[in-house]
Amino acid sequence: MYLKALTINGFKSFAKKGELEFSAPITAIVGPNGSGKSNVAESFRFVLGEQSVKSMRGKRGEDLIWGGSESVSRGNRAQVEVVLDNGKRQFPLDFDEIRLERIVHRDGQNEYRLNGSTVRLKDIQELLASANIGPTGHHIISQGEADRILSASARERREMIEDALGLKVYQLKKQEAERKLTKTKENIAQVESLRREAAPHLRYLEKQVQKIEKSLEVQKTLRTVYVEYLRREDIYLAFHSDRLSGERREPAAVLDEVKRQLAAAKEILRAAEGSDVRAGEVVRAEEAWRSASRARQVAVQELSKVEGQLAYITRRITERSRRVTAPAPMIARAELERVVTSIESEADAAAQRDDLALLKRTLIDVVRKLRILLERAPQEVEATDQDGLESEHKELETVLLRLKSAAEAAAIGEAEAEAVYQSVRQSREAEAEGARAAEREVFRLVGEQRMLEGQVERIDRELAALERDRDEFRRELTEAVALLGREVARYYEVAVVVDGVELAPEQIAHEDRGVQRSRRHELEKLKIRLEELGIGTTEDVLREWQDAKERDEFLARELTDLTTSVEKLTALIAELTEELHEHFFAGIDKISVEFNTFFTLMFGGGEATLRRIEPKVRTQSEDDGAAIVEEDGEAEVGIELDVKLPNKRVKGLEMLSGGERALTSIALIFAMSQVNPPPFIILDETDAALDEANSRRYGDLIEALAKKSQLILITHNRETMSRASILYGVTMGADGVSKLLSVRLEEALAVAK
Ligand code: ATP
Repeated sequence: MYLKALTINGFKSFAKKGELEFSAPITAIVGPNGSGKSNVAESFRFVLGEQSVKSMRGKRGEDLIWGGSESVSRGNRAQVEVVLDNGKRQFPLDFDEIRLERIVHRDGQNEYRLNGSTVRLKDIQELLASANIGPTGHHIISQGEADRILSASARERREMIEDALGLKVYQLKKQEAERKLTKTKENIAQVESLRREAAPHLRYLEKQVQKIEKSLEVQKTLRTVYVEYLRREDIYLAFHSDRLSGERREPAAVLDEVKRQLAAAKEILRAAEGSDVRAGEVVRAEEAWRSASRARQVAVQELSKVEGQLAYITRRITERSRRVTAPAPMIARAELERVVTSIESEADAAAQRDDLALLKRTLIDVVRKLRILLERAPQEVEATDQDGLESEHKELETVLLRLKSAAEAAAIGEAEAEAVYQSVRQSREAEAEGARAAEREVFRLVGEQRMLEGQVERIDRELAALERDRDEFRRELTEAVALLGREVARYYEVAVVVDGVELAPEQIAHEDRGVQRSRRHELEKLKIRLEELGIGTTEDVLREWQDAKERDEFLARELTDLTTSVEKLTALIAELTEELHEHFFAGIDKISVEFNTFFTLMFGGGEATLRRIEPKVRTQSEDDGAAIVEEDGEAEVGIELDVKLPNKRVKGLEMLSGGERALTSIALIFAMSQVNPPPFIILDETDAALDEANSRRYGDLIEALAKKSQLILITHNRETMSRASILYGVTMGADGVSKLLSVRLEEALAVAK
């Protein structure tokens, strides 16, 4: 039992809630004309998702809602719920019961619920199709509709049969696949268009990125060359700076010392230059000595003169006493002149010489010569003079004593003056000697200073050159940081390695400068290359390119997926078409057999078959421009009925009476139901046109049919009522509201009368 219950609320004449339970294979709904029985059948259509309001005898959605009567105001919505059993899981849902509910509002809005959850119409349709409850309503035959299958076009009939055969599932799947295929093709076109549109920008970005990549490559090389250059330069500068500072230290210190010595020597020299005063002292001392010498000479002369006088007096005194014995020799004039001349020349010679000793010797010699001469002169001693001589002698002796002491004093004075002179002169000479030495020292020191200054200057020149290199190095470092970032400033962490061996600072410092210059040249070339390529912010471009590329790759993948989908869908459609084809033809053959059986049963003979009509392939010229070349040929296959009544010559549906048509259509509906039994069948007065005999046959067929499908029969037919296990009566009072009630057969029969 599939159908368990139906609840109608606000639908058409059912202004109030009414419930029907279907606990038997055959349920009959009875009631007077116009009471609302057909509305019950339509409520089934409604709740099962019927979209044609017309097929529910309405024009608009709101025609399905209770429209109101004089006593009962109109409703705002129509609500129908059907409960289906799912104990055997005919529906692919894990519920024992399936509650379908549909509500339509006055604004035409529809709501669908499945077990209380809001769902889409499509979900309902798919679910029902899975249990062979199709939307064409082949299992709901409305009043007067039994004939519809006969009067339908070949194509409509085909659809009804397809529906009855349960091919709707395949069709839905096929339609879905076709819809998806169309959508997928649209998507492919869209994706291709998107890729086409994005391609120029992507190409542009690719070029930019290539440029950036080249720039990054150049930056990398530049960084490597820079790091080595900076490292080497730094080591070179530090090494030679240390070396030159070391080399400078000694000569600079010596130079300072030399300068100090030179200043001292110059000071000495200056002091010597101021010694004129001392020269005057020497002259003065010499003068003093000379005058003391002269004073002594005068004193000695005085003394000698007095001594001479005294000797003369003494001799005279002596001669007087012996004069008698020996006459005194005479001195010749010539000899005297000779002696005087000799004394004069000797005295002149001595006077011209500044020699005290010579003067003394000369003086003594003169005295001696005079003494000799005096010895030879004649002595005249007068007796009278003897006394005078004696006193004179005495006087002279006194003078002599005085003169002696005067001469001694003069000699002492002279010796002292000489000593002073010698001392002053020696001191002067010592000073002069000192000045000369100082002069020599100054000369030597100036030479040494020049030599040292030369050395220091050479070093300073080298240091200045080094300082220029250092400035250059700083500029390069600043530029490197500006170009490549702060990381380059850590060049000192990198070792200089040649052939796998780390170079010592000394080796680096002694490298030929030409090699470093060529590195610098290389740096310049790389910088120019980098400038050409640009070094701006690359992040944005890279990100944009990455995004664009990812998007393009995504679209390409999407395209592949879509193409695969197209292939799969095309294959699926072909498969479904094939399946539909097979099931359809097989189904038709089966229905045809059943149709014949039911037909012959109904008519007590005769013959009935279903016939396929192959599609006519129309050409454009035939069809006035409308291109109708179906892809799948059987879509146009129609179904025709061939019937032959017993004992009658006439053939064809057109020749049948109303009752015959009714019987034929019942035979066909039953045949369709037999081949693929739907869970339930609703027949609204299908039996209306049957006479008593046919009603019985109809009743038999119904019972046979009820074995496979649950039946809900709306009928006025007693026979039919009698075959039902449950009877519901529908009544309508003055308020125009339909009401449901369970009735007994007798009551129902009473209604039927
Ligand atoms: P019969 O035996 O003659 O076929 P029935 O019992 O099948 O009659 P229905 O055709 O189901 O009767 O019901 C028709 C009745 O329902 C009419 O009286 C009609 O006015 C009423 N009806 C239909 N639609 C509405 C509506 N929207 N609001 C109120 N009443 C409606």
